[in-house]
Amino acid sequence: MKINKEWHEQNKMPKNADFEQRMKWHLNHLKNCSCSTNIPKKLAEEMIRKGIAIPTPE
Ligand SMILES: [Zn+2]
Repeated sequence: MKINKEWHEQNKMPKNADFEQRMKWHLNHLKNCSCSTNIPKKLAEEMIRKGIAIPTPE
């Protein structure tokens, strides 16, 4: 597990992030960083409900 510190520095999660913002953050995060921050279960469930594919780390 490697953390992309630079990406995290530049991409802080907004304090009162809504679903859309959190989803985009996590999708972006998966592409840019491989640290252990996972998509929260509730957010993942909401994404599945909306038919949004969750990319799995390779
Ligand atoms: Zn990360």
